[in-house]
Amino acid sequence: MERIAEIEAMAAAARRAWREGKRIGFVPTMGYFHAGHLRLMERARGECDLVVVSLFVNPAQFGPGEDLEAYPRDLDGDAAKAAAAGVDIFFLPRAESLYPPGFRTWVEVRELTDKLCGRSRPGHFRGVATVVNKLFHIVQPHRAYFGLKDYQQYRVIGRMAADLNWDLEVVGVETVREPDGLAMSSRNVYLSPRQRQSALALSRSLQRARELVEGGERRAGTIVEMVEGQITAQPETRIDYVSVCDPETLTEVDRIDGEALLALAVYVGKARLIDNIILKAP
Ligand code: AMP
Repeated sequence: MERIAEIEAMAAAARRAWREGKRIGFVPTMGYFHAGHLRLMERARGECDLVVVSLFVNPAQFGPGEDLEAYPRDLDGDAAKAAAAGVDIFFLPRAESLYPPGFRTWVEVRELTDKLCGRSRPGHFRGVATVVNKLFHIVQPHRAYFGLKDYQQYRVIGRMAADLNWDLEVVGVETVREPDGLAMSSRNVYLSPRQRQSALALSRSLQRARELVEGGERRAGTIVEMVEGQITAQPETRIDYVSVCDPETLTEVDRIDGEALLALAVYVGKARLIDNIILKAP
């Protein structure tokens, strides 16, 4: 595995791959790899000729008072895991080169970003869309892989890629979970053992919601109430949102007809955790 920090060197490697007719698979990350990240890399490895993983903790997507400084880091551990997953290029751009002095240009995806996490993290998706667009320019991927755990991000990037005429495929990869159901996240390291227990209510209530819908429940309000009840019953939890919405537009729905996204964000202690599930009315 090659480590590249310079943007020009990365762009040159991408041009070489294109000349040689190789398909580039790209996995953008913020590091501190767990099995969820590795699943994306393995998927890219299985489908592409050159696998590029970027690690960049993007300051532009963190709000004031969020965990930018505290965000967990383990560069050597990440490099070893990426190499073992068969990654070809580990791209580690520097903040000064992605955001040069005088930086003034942003990518804004309207409407999709006002909802769910966008409401409590203003500017977050602007930061995500901007940096991913920049990384696409540098890496020139044929396919880019995103986790469905960050469902809204997956939709925002898909919209951005279509709107900006990117000739690439945005691939969504199923959420990887711990054996007890907790969605894997770099932020899970913030949890104390007691909070880790409380956090189980997220995936558990999503599963319960799926059962209710399979049993005939169609009212979004009833589902939201059940989920909120299960979560607030656990110590050290504070709900940011629980929402049932259209999986494409992310607009809230009152009734579940066909498919709906049930998404939530919950503070457990100081960790802000997200999870979601697609509900299918039988
Ligand atoms: P991050 O490093 O948190 O920015 O995540 C990098 C990529 O990994 C994003 O596309 C995430 O959606 C994806 N990801 C994070 N956690 C998981 C998970 N538990 N399962 C699948 N993909 C994940």
